[in-house]
Amino acid sequence: MRSDYTAEFESFSEQFTRAWYRFTAGLDTTLDLEPVFDRFGYLFTLEQIQELAAEADGAFTDRDRKAARYLRAAAIEEHFALTTRALDEAIADRDAAATVAFNGQEVPFLAIRSRLRSEPRAEVRRELARKRERVVEGANDLRCERFEKHRDEAKALGAVSMAVLWSEALGVDHVNVAERAGVLLSATEERYASTLATVLRDRVGVSIGDATRDDLAFALRLGDFDAAFPARRMTMVYRDLFAGFGIRTGSQENIRLDLEDRPSKSPRPFCSPIRVPDEVVLVVRPAGGFADFGALLHEGGHAQHFGFTSADTHVAFARTGDRASSEVWAFLMQYLLLDPRFLTDTFGLGDALELRRVAALERCSMVRRHVGKLRYEEALLSGRTSLSDAASAYVDCLGDATLVRASRCDYLTDLDDGFYVADYLRAWALEVLVRDYLRTRFGNHWWTSRSAGNLLKELWSTGFEYSADEIAAELGLGPIEFDPLADDLKEGLAA
Ligand SMILES: [Zn+2]
Repeated sequence: MRSDYTAEFESFSEQFTRAWYRFTAGLDTTLDLEPVFDRFGYLFTLEQIQELAAEADGAFTDRDRKAARYLRAAAIEEHFALTTRALDEAIADRDAAATVAFNGQEVPFLAIRSRLRSEPRAEVRRELARKRERVVEGANDLRCERFEKHRDEAKALGAVSMAVLWSEALGVDHVNVAERAGVLLSATEERYASTLATVLRDRVGVSIGDATRDDLAFALRLGDFDAAFPARRMTMVYRDLFAGFGIRTGSQENIRLDLEDRPSKSPRPFCSPIRVPDEVVLVVRPAGGFADFGALLHEGGHAQHFGFTSADTHVAFARTGDRASSEVWAFLMQYLLLDPRFLTDTFGLGDALELRRVAALERCSMVRRHVGKLRYEEALLSGRTSLSDAASAYVDCLGDATLVRASRCDYLTDLDDGFYVADYLRAWALEVLVRDYLRTRFGNHWWTSRSAGNLLKELWSTGFEYSADEIAAELGLGPIEFDPLADDLKEGLAA
């Protein structure tokens, strides 16, 4: 592996992540990546990507081959982003400037989604959603152009389609994942549909046939439990959770908690691995509530994974690799909030049946949504669905999976580059296996076990070196199947 490339890639990651952190945390008012890409853009040219492929082919060890492969996948991602930077900026500028007239006010386009989530009247949600749709549709020509450019670049890289390019670059067979994940829909269908119908009826007064994505989002808000999840307890819960594993977060010099309130700081917690493992920031703007705690524990899982990555790890394994290998730890921490024992110990909540029913529905609908999204994205990126048929395909796939109506206009806004959606699904599946393993080995309160903590630290030290499937194999849990996740989702809905 050329050390100059990896050193340069590391500097790029650091500067890029720092700029992103400063903007999203509200420290900088603009996100200026121009200097970063002026300086490092040369790392992501077609020639460099081809050279990384040649390096993977000619590598002497499996480890070197994997490192070159991971770096190549990351370089492709940046190459795509660079190809359409002007378009992305034009779309972002449009979105930032757009407003809709509503109730005698001008509502910023970017604030509509959060407004929809807190609007209790179904007919008002529909009216606002229609106005949002018109703004989204206004920029869909630009999004089509962006999609076509990426498709051309995949061809320039010698792949017949984007789907083939990503599957080969990431080393994941997405057709196979999409097929196997189908069991998540069939096995949970009955229980999901009946719980969904009940929750929609009880919480928003909408029938399942009429429900939109916004109705579901509103029904899944757990505002009635806000008192149990106060903002002031967030840092304590984070501290106490990891203390149970023998990790004193207060003395971790490499993982900083950014809690300061700034006007333009993201309301959602996030983790910025600026330098791995030496400078990781966990950014929180404590608002409280079940969802905010879930996001905090999720991002806390990422932060600890990055923070415990060994300093000797190859750059390729510290910064790039199988994204499911980080999401699994984030989900493991996040879903503690679905464990009645954790809820009792940490929040004194007792049974909390309604909370757990709604939270389980939220998780199941999220997983099902991702199965629908993967089916849609795989067909679109492979070319089986044409761009002109994509909006209908999107509505069908998402509707079949979530059993609520998706907005046609979102067929390109709701599309992740590089099949991230499949990595979430693989991470969800692995999380259930890992959680079960920890419970069997360290007891029902495994999150209070130092030994469990030691095992996690050992796994985290390898960064992204091992794929989700390799982690499963290493723990004797593999190969990753989706049936245990389906069973776990069903069990959650039955609680
Ligand atoms: Zn995550």
